[in-house]
Amino acid sequence: MINTLTTDTIIKLLSPKPRIVITIHRGPDGDAVGSGLGWMHILANAGMQATVIAPDAYPDFLKWMPGNDGVVVYESQKEVAQKAIDDADLIFCLDFNSPSRMGDLAEAVTTANKPIVVVDHHQQPDEFAQGYYTDDTASSTAEMIYRLCEALNWEQYIDHDAAICLYTGIVTDTGSFRFSSVSPRLMRIAADLMEKGIDHTRIYREVYDSNTFERLKLRGFALSEKLEVLPNSATAFIALKEKELKKFNFQKGDTEGLVNYALSIDGVGLAAFFAEKDGMIKISLRSKGNYDVNKLARAHFEGGGHVNAAGGRKLDSMKNTIDRFKEIVAQEADKIKASI
Ligand code: 5GP
Ligand code: MN
Repeated sequence: MINTLTTDTIIKLLSPKPRIVITIHRGPDGDAVGSGLGWMHILANAGMQATVIAPDAYPDFLKWMPGNDGVVVYESQKEVAQKAIDDADLIFCLDFNSPSRMGDLAEAVTTANKPIVVVDHHQQPDEFAQGYYTDDTASSTAEMIYRLCEALNWEQYIDHDAAICLYTGIVTDTGSFRFSSVSPRLMRIAADLMEKGIDHTRIYREVYDSNTFERLKLRGFALSEKLEVLPNSATAFIALKEKELKKFNFQKGDTEGLVNYALSIDGVGLAAFFAEKDGMIKISLRSKGNYDVNKLARAHFEGGGHVNAAGGRKLDSMKNTIDRFKEIVAQEADKIKASI
């Protein structure tokens, strides 16, 4: 059983003003970085010192948020990260539901023998923390951080910098306010964040209008040469091999969102993106309607996520992975079609 934290318990945990470490998931997205840095600013405004540790490096389009310079990247700064963990009294794990999503950082965090609090919006969290503040119907962890501030009566600690970070997390995890997780409550939260004086068009520009020439070329190649449709399964996919990624000087984040183009095809209810990296295949899955890709990722690709967005991996060749994927979606065809 996971222990859902009450507001009182969280207040108790925070009232001695503990030293805090905030960890996010490997390959962080806008919500991981935005909620992590947002929470760091809020804690600072409440008189607490917090260090954000990211398991690995992330793309430039996420590096502009206020406070980014203080983020410790575990893969290149192990000693600094370990010291922050040793010095911490409390660890917040943001935007993931399983320690494995921290990669190599997982061991340092789980063996630290420090209380862990998870703030998240993924389904079925693992039992690795003392307390959980999660809701799998929330749009983003940034929304959960805002809700936590409301519950603690901490709205005054959400300053301009925190608002920028949280708004970024919300924008990126809702596909710019278009996914089904967007609610009237979220729009009110976004409005409150806007009233902190943020420049929302700049946020959009930093994240989405900052393509490199090579990234755009890679996308063009993927769409014109690598997009395949399986009409009988209402499925489309794109697969990129390591040498193809190298040809376009692949940088982290360059293939972000590519899977959504496959999903955007009329009559397609399930889309996948396969990328070959370090001898394995990383998989992104997206669906329309109520077809549950979290289930699919858990059952076949050692992964998870949400109903309409999930990911996983397979330690196999690209060919075998795609062959297996085709078999799976053929079996699921009726369900996929019914969900469109
Ligand atoms: P993406 O396809 O953008 O990498 O990830 C989509 C969603 O699936 C995210 O919410 C992410 O948390 C989840 N996800 C991606 N990869 C993995 C994975 O390897 N394991 C698990 N459990 N979830 C993943
Ligand atoms: Mn998220």
